[in-house]
Amino acid sequence: MRNKDAKTMTTSTPWKEITPGGAIYDAGNAEDFLTGDWRAMKPVWIIEKCTQCMLCPPTCPDNAIPVEDSKRLDYDYDHCKGCGVCFKVCPFDAIDFVKEDE
Ligand code: SF4
Ligand code: SF4
Repeated sequence: MRNKDAKTMTTSTPWKEITPGGAIYDAGNAEDFLTGDWRAMKPVWIIEKCTQCMLCPPTCPDNAIPVEDSKRLDYDYDHCKGCGVCFKVCPFDAIDFVKEDE
């Protein structure tokens, strides 16, 4: 029987129980995977320039821009994979996009 719950897969899960291609079928599991170590580039929020227009949070595929009281907060770098979409959408140059080690 194939294992369809990615949370229970480990390095010792028998291959017969792993889904083809390691595909994950569970919805809503992005929080469980720390995708931050995929990054080569990272966004940097420039708070002084941010107008809180709220264009960037819904564009993030990993929900890595926390929102509280209708305002964005600083990045959740554990989950930001550095795709740069938020950087592209900001109309106020309030996001820089730099090499990970800068
Ligand atoms: S770089 Fe991509 S993953 Fe990271 S916060 Fe921006 S949109 Fe989200
Ligand atoms: S798109 Fe730019 S100005 Fe708008 S909330 Fe995001 S960082 Fe701030």
